[in-house]
Amino acid sequence: MITSNQEAIASRVLNLVNGGVIVLDADQHIVLWNSWLTPRCGRAAARVMGHPLFEVFPELRGSRVEAAVLAAFAEDIATAIPQTDNPSPFPLRAAGSFDGPRIEQAVSVSPFREEGETFCLVEIRDVSGTVEREKRLLDHAESLRARSYVDGLTGIANRRYFDVALDRELRRAQRLGGSLSLLLTDIDSFKAYNDHFGHQAGDSCLSSVAQALASRLKRPADVAARYGGEEFAAILPDTDAEQARQLAESIREYVASLNLPHAPAALRPYVTLSIGVASIEKGRLEDARALIEAADKALYAAKRGGRDRVVVDGEL
Ligand code: GH3
Ligand code: MG
Ligand code: MG
Repeated sequence: MITSNQEAIASRVLNLVNGGVIVLDADQHIVLWNSWLTPRCGRAAARVMGHPLFEVFPELRGSRVEAAVLAAFAEDIATAIPQTDNPSPFPLRAAGSFDGPRIEQAVSVSPFREEGETFCLVEIRDVSGTVEREKRLLDHAESLRARSYVDGLTGIANRRYFDVALDRELRRAQRLGGSLSLLLTDIDSFKAYNDHFGHQAGDSCLSSVAQALASRLKRPADVAARYGGEEFAAILPDTDAEQARQLAESIREYVASLNLPHAPAALRPYVTLSIGVASIEKGRLEDARALIEAADKALYAAKRGGRDRVVVDGEL
């Protein structure tokens, strides 16, 4: 049993709610209108009570709001109207501003029955700014990702990390007088692969090759990175030219043994790699640029020599 005190509280709370509350009867006439709505659309309860909702807001005819109201009465269905559709279906503006932009709204429509009659509750929440906020968060996440060190496609280190790691390892090798080798690998006839299987298949081939390369590097300080489109690099601290050649051979053989089908126009029916190897020496190739250049030259020689092979700098 509801006391008049409870009724007074309910009515008070209804007008304190931070959102629009409209109740329609089965003829779509407004039977409840809370005071949140008044300063936002310039209409007080007294002016709209008993009027059909779609006469008060003619522009809602044919909208998702009308469809939701019809579904509520005819099929007893509650609807949360997706915001993507039309972010501001009701002509509501910030309280007291009659020419500012419309507020963005989350609208839900729910049928209910009371004493044998069907009603429909329309709730409107002000969600202005959440779309903008969400976009800002996405932009932020994007820039964090861009600044991170992981290649989005293959999951191995990206070029940015490669640059930092190579610098660090070069300095370390110089400090301790240790060796350091660099492998640059390039997939053979990859254009033909894309042309034959499509770019998406190309992407997943790149992932497979990246995983294969990373899985052959066993020491914790070794770094496998995506150097460019279909070019990968391996930084191998404490590894001399001969050890690096052996590792490069084992990578080349391993990728070939995966038997990833290649395009008919390619050298072999399976995916193959060409690999260039360069190592630092006393007084030679001691900076990143020179070392990369030497590995790149060796790689170019491997391509020219027929592909699917390893060439070590200095043996060109
Ligand atoms: P080569 O044996 O001389 O290396 O021949 P190639 O066809 O592989 O020639 P090249 O290395 O110049 O071609 C690289 C191709 O790799 C061209 C480009 O479309 C493709 N590629 C680069 N990045 C991506 C990528 O992220 N995804 C896919 N699917 N393809 C890529
Ligand atoms: Mg290439
Ligand atoms: Mg290539």
